[in-house]
Formats: sequence, structure tokens, C-alpha cells
Amino acid sequence: MNIHEYQAKAVLREFGIPTPRGIAAFSVEDAVKAARELASPVTVVKAQIHAGGRGKAGGVKVVKSIEAVESEAKRLLGSTLVTHQTGPRGKEVHRLYIEEGSAIDKEFYLSALVDRGTGRVSFVVSTEGGMDIEQVAKDTPEKIVSFSIDPATGVMPHHGRRIAQALQLKGDLAKQAEALVAKLYQAFLAKDMSMLEVNPLVVTKDGKLICLDAKISFEGNSLYRHPDVVALRDLTEEDEKEIEASKHDLSYVALDGNIGCMVNGAGLAMATMDIIKLYGEEPANFLDVGGGASKERVTEAFKIITADPNVKGILINIFGGIMRCDVLAEGVIAAVKEVGLKVPLVVRLEGTNVERGKQIIAESGLDVVSADDLDDAAQKIVKAVRGNA
Ligand code: GDP
Ligand code: MN
Repeated sequence: MNIHEYQAKAVLREFGIPTPRGIAAFSVEDAVKAARELASPVTVVKAQIHAGGRGKAGGVKVVKSIEAVESEAKRLLGSTLVTHQTGPRGKEVHRLYIEEGSAIDKEFYLSALVDRGTGRVSFVVSTEGGMDIEQVAKDTPEKIVSFSIDPATGVMPHHGRRIAQALQLKGDLAKQAEALVAKLYQAFLAKDMSMLEVNPLVVTKDGKLICLDAKISFEGNSLYRHPDVVALRDLTEEDEKEIEASKHDLSYVALDGNIGCMVNGAGLAMATMDIIKLYGEEPANFLDVGGGASKERVTEAFKIITADPNVKGILINIFGGIMRCDVLAEGVIAAVKEVGLKVPLVVRLEGTNVERGKQIIAESGLDVVSADDLDDAAQKIVKAVRGNA
């Protein structure tokens, strides 16, 4: 789960991590009031959307008067920001963050994330702040320093020195860097974050190390123990179909392609997406209906897939282990009867009660293409989608 920058900064402040003063604003009046309250000679008006790259897209404005805060707030609220992270459709701005301006001396990059390879939290730092870190990694990988924290010891003084050295910080700034990494690690663990990115981390002209931007993702499976984090959720930033899916315990991720997939088991779902790509098309979603899905869940899953206007064909790929193929077949037929079927549907069933499942579909009179294996299924749906295009 992701949150906005202003919320992320509030979380960091709980741990004593330095950030500029700021106030969230939901209207132009709010923004003006916030700027008056901050009473800072330089104010930054920042669009709050769940995507980075706002600066380059005009979503971050450094201004010097209340009038300018007002006009930037008017311009941004309700507008659609298209950044390199939003996709071409962009994201509509409903919230702003009004922040006191900082006089920047240097901009750095810092992030912490779960390194699944080592099972530890890793820090990534670079002198190349404010830039696209993927680009830095590609062009000048030597400018990226990364190390992981042993959970048994936590952050040690040498980690702080490592960061100070990587960022070429000396004296008091090196001390600030050491304190910062310890607090960031503490916050990361306490809140069950999966990713924490500070880009840029800056040194101000008066010698302070502060987090000028903050992006936090939380581990979804740990949200049950963080009601305070759940309260920060902004549903307008999330895909409606994903929200609906989560209500029915379906693992669903919306993607950009045009073949809707309904699969049981995450591994099989990944393999199904891969094979669709292998035959030259793109999946419209990842959807795992789970091992023991009921008829109702299958119906809900089918509704979510067909609600996506990009879906030009559907591939159902079920390996009946705990899930029985006949239950799946009944669910599909119930769903088709309820929502209708306007696109080609290919079904590949294997496993428990497969004969009964195939029979139910054959006798339903529905226009369903039956497939024998994964390869056959992928080729059939790709062909059907192309014939329909
Ligand atoms: P992003 O583009 O979505 O990552 O938004 P950021 O919060 O990182 O802001 C983009 C850029 O705006 C930063 O890299 C800074 O260069 C600039 N910026 C943000 N806040 C300030 C500020 O207080 N003072 C100055 N001078 N520049 C700022
Ligand atoms: Mn940034």
C-alpha cells in the first residue's frame, strides 16, 4: 500500500527524522491559509499524487509570495499530472502539500527496501539525487552504493560511516547521516515498510541533512497490525478493480494488455502471463482466484475482468487441485449468465473433476473455446483476440 508524500513525511517525523515544515491542503483556501501559517519567505507547492517525477511535470513549484501559492494551487487542484511514472493517462490532483522552502546545497538519493535475496533491509545511496535512479543505475552504476543491515545487530556505526563516505559528508554532516540511517531503519521496521525512498535527501545551505521528498510503500500482509497506516489509504489513487478484488480476497493486479486472465495459484498465473507474452500479446491483469475458490468468488473474478474495457479476450486457466474443475465451470457459467460475454473466452481445465467440468461447459451452450494445455490455450486466445481486433 502506498501513501502520499505529506503522509510519509508525517510518519518519518514520528521517528524524529528531519523534514521541512509543511501543511496538507485540499482546496485553494486551505493552501493560502497554510502558506500564511508557515510564513516562510520561500514556499513550495507540491501536488500530492501516488507517483514521482512531479517536479519535471510542473507538479512542484517553488514560489515567493502568497499570491503565487494561490495561483499555483488553482492551477494544480483538479488538473491531471502526467509524469514518467503515471502512464499516459496521468493522475488527477486532489491534494496539495504546502511546504516551507529549503535552500539546497546538495541533493542525494537514499532508499531502503527489502532485499529478498538476503532477507534483509538494504540501503541504496547515491550522490546523484533528484534524478531518476534507474537511469543512474544504467549510466553510472559506480555512483550507487548499497549495503544490507544484519537484523541481529541492526544499524551499526560502520553503516553510518559507509553512507557518509558514499555521500562525501564530513564532520557534523557525517554525524547527521549516521543518526539518520539509524532512525530510517527503525521507522522501516516499526511500520513494516516494503520501500522507503528519499529522493532527494538534501544538505541545506545552513548545514542540515533533511528529507525533501519521501515515498513509502507498506507491506500489504502486515497492514492488519497498523490501523494508523490503513487510515492513510487514499482509495482515489487505487485501481477500482483492485479495490473490488481485495473485498473478495482475490489477488488481482491491473495491467495494460488486452487478455484478461483468471488463474488459480500465483505461479500458474505468472506462467500464464508469460506464455501470453510469448505468443505476442499482453495480459490485462494478474488474477489468482486462490486454491479453494467458491462459485461466488469465481463469479466476482469474472465480473472484475469483464468490467475492464481493455479486455478483448479472456483466458481461464485452472489446475484443479483443491479447487474442483466442476465448481469452476459452474462459476464461469453463472458469471456469463449474469454479466454476459462480449469477447472470446478460452478455458483450459486440468485436474480434479476435469471431465465433469468440461461437460458442464460443453452443455451450457455458451460460446467457449476449450483448450487442452497451457500452450494450446495461449495460442487460441491470442488468435481469437487478433481475429476480433
Ligand atoms: P518529484 O519530482 O515527484 O520527485 O518531487 P520532489 O519532491 O523530489 O521535488 C522535485 C524537485 O523540486 C527536487 O528534486 C528539488 O530540486 C526541487 N525542490 C523541492 N522542494 C524544494 C525546496 O524546498 N527548495 C528548492 N530550491 N527546490 C525544491
Ligand atoms: Mn522526488
